[in-house]
Amino acid sequence: LALRISLIVEPSAGPVGFLLAVRDITRLKEYEQLRSDMVSLMSHELRTPITSINGFAELLAMDENLPADAREFATIIHQESQRLSRMIDTFLRLTRLEAADRQEMRQVPLRLDEVVRETVSNFQAAAKKKRIRLIEKTNGKIPPVAADRGLIMRAVANLVDNAIRYSPEKTTVTVSTELEADAVRVIVEDQGYGIPPEARDRVWEKFYRVARDGQEKDEESTGLGLAFVREVVERHKGQVSLESEVGRGSKFSFTLPRL
Ligand code: ADP
Repeated sequence: LALRISLIVEPSAGPVGFLLAVRDITRLKEYEQLRSDMVSLMSHELRTPITSINGFAELLAMDENLPADAREFATIIHQESQRLSRMIDTFLRLTRLEAADRQEMRQVPLRLDEVVRETVSNFQAAAKKKRIRLIEKTNGKIPPVAADRGLIMRAVANLVDNAIRYSPEKTTVTVSTELEADAVRVIVEDQGYGIPPEARDRVWEKFYRVARDGQEKDEESTGLGLAFVREVVERHKGQVSLESEVGRGSKFSFTLPRL
């Protein structure tokens, strides 16, 4: 039960009475539970068929006995089912995070230099495919922060993944750490397409994707990656920020409070 007591005041006569509101919030709790059950059920039930659509479409796309256009359609089905499955994964992770209490996060002393080094090494292959130079700049003097390792790893990975995906070939992506007065900052800087001023705040919203001139919205994109990053960072009492210039590149960063 939720109780609320309000004082009723007449402008001319002063206080004239009380209002006691009693609300049954069992319903609300039930609704929240239902919502979270639905989300996890949907995500799991959806995953199985998508995995098989994905697998068979890939097989068809590679089948040399099929006419070229049939293989092309199969390739599209394959790409789209992959996108769908990535979207479900991120959506599920984000929803879980939003539903979780602060207490549920496992905070351990975490060295952000090491997170950066590991992430950069994980993405070398993806960068190489686009002939992007992916480098890390850490100085080893960064104090640890208290954070959930898995969540922070994934947040940094999302930023690096974006930097590579939204940059043309033969550019450089730099991932670095910086020490501030009471925080450590992780910075992912690219020489990519950049983000127009009117979209800079909105990119952090769920499902928001930037439309680029003369280009369809990126087929691989889900619009969930940055919403996840922000949720993770704010959960840790840190802040996200973005500087960008269209056609020159973007600088995404976040802080985490020092221990
Ligand atoms: P996704 O990349 O899956 O679409 P995000 O939430 O990570 O979802 O990003 C939202 C949008 O912000 C993207 O669709 C893209 O247009 C833009 N964006 C994100 N990172 C960059 C970047 N490094 N450079 C340019 N645009 C970016």
